[in-house]
Amino acid sequence: MDVIIERELGLYVHVPFCSTTCDFCAFYQERPSKKGFEAYFFALERDFNAHRDSRNFSTVFIGGGTPGLLSAQQIEKLCNLIRSAELETNCEWSVEVAPNEINSEKVDAFLNGGVNRLSLGVQTFNQQFMKELGRNHDVDSVMTAYELVRNAGFASVNLDLLFGAPGQTLDDWQDDLRKAVDLKPDHISTYCLTFEEDTALYAKLSKGEVRIDPEREASFYELAWEYLPTFGFSQYEVSNYAKPGMESLHNLNTWSMNEWIGYGPSASSQLNGVRRKNFANIEQWGRHLLLDKPQKYEEWTNLGDAEIARDAVIFGLRMNRGINLKEICGKFHLSPSIFAEINLFLDLLITEGLGEKVDGNYCLNQEGRMRCDAIAKEMPELNQEVAAV
Ligand code: SF4
Repeated sequence: MDVIIERELGLYVHVPFCSTTCDFCAFYQERPSKKGFEAYFFALERDFNAHRDSRNFSTVFIGGGTPGLLSAQQIEKLCNLIRSAELETNCEWSVEVAPNEINSEKVDAFLNGGVNRLSLGVQTFNQQFMKELGRNHDVDSVMTAYELVRNAGFASVNLDLLFGAPGQTLDDWQDDLRKAVDLKPDHISTYCLTFEEDTALYAKLSKGEVRIDPEREASFYELAWEYLPTFGFSQYEVSNYAKPGMESLHNLNTWSMNEWIGYGPSASSQLNGVRRKNFANIEQWGRHLLLDKPQKYEEWTNLGDAEIARDAVIFGLRMNRGINLKEICGKFHLSPSIFAEINLFLDLLITEGLGEKVDGNYCLNQEGRMRCDAIAKEMPELNQEVAAV
C-alpha cells in the first residue's frame, strides 16, 4: 500500500502595482490607481474564499510588483485576509519591498500583521547601474530603508542583488557584495540579469546596444560563490546564501516541489497534480471571482507524479544539499523503472565530473552548478505511464 506523504503547503500573494517599470522586468505589474486597488482587494477577498485547502499553510510570501507600495491601511487589510486562512504556528511569512516605498508606518503594519521576514530589493549599491537598470531609488534610500527594517525587529532580513548589468565589472560586483555583507543581513539572494522579451533591456539587446556574455556571467557567479561563504553566508542554492538556519523555507518548499496556492493576478499554484496560473490582468482574473462562476485560468496543466518528480530532481540539483533519490521516489510514488532511469542520469553526471554523492544525496559540484540549466535540459522526460499509482 502506498504511504501518503502530506506535502507542505505555501501561500503566495501577488501585489501587482509598481510606480515605474524597471528596464529588466517582465513581471506583470500595473500603475497604482484608486480604481485598481479597489478592484484588486475586492477580487482578492473572493480569491481567498474560493481557493482553500484542508491543510494549514506552512509559509507565506507576499511578492510583486511592489507590496511596499500599499498604504499602511491596505497592508493591514491584506494581512488580515492572509490570517483568515489557516496558518501554521510560527509560519515563515515574507514580504518583498522596494527601498523607496517603505516607511515606519508600513513597517509597523507588516510586523503587526504577522510578517517576520522582509526582503529588500537593493539590486545594486552603484548609483550608475541603478539608473541603467531603471530602478526608481538611490543608494541613500537603500541605507535608510535597511536601517529602518533592521531595527524594526523582523526575524530575518534578506537583500536581493542583481549582477551582470551592462558595463559592470568584477570589481563592481565585489563592491556590491561587500556592501551587502557590511549591512549584516541574514540572507542574500543574487540574481543574474536576464534579457526577457518585452522589456526595455531586451530592446537594447535587439539593437546591439548591450550584449550577453556567458563567460562574464560565470565569473560573477563564481565570485559570489567564493566571496559570501567567507563571511558566514552559506550557499544553499545556486543564487541564495544564508546565515545558519536562515534559509528561506518558502523557497525550499517550492524547489522541493511541494505544493502552494497563489492568490492575485498572474499568481501560480501547484496543487493536487495541477499547475495553474491566474490571468495576468486584474480585470480578467477578477471577472469570474466576482460573478461567483467557476474560476478560469490563463494556464492549466495536469501533471503526473513523474513530471513533478522530474522538476523535483531539476530544482533539487540547484540546491547544495542535492537530492535523495529514494526519498523523491517514495514521495512521488515512482516505479522501480523510473528510479533506475533517474539513477542512470545522475550517475552519468558524476562520471562527467559534474557531481558527487554525499551521505546518500546526489549533489552537483561547482562545475555542475555552473551548468545546471543545461543539465535541466538534458534530464530525460519520465514516462508517466510506468509510474506506480
Ligand atoms: S519593482 Fe520589481 S516588479 Fe516592479 S518593475 Fe521593478 S523589478 Fe518589476
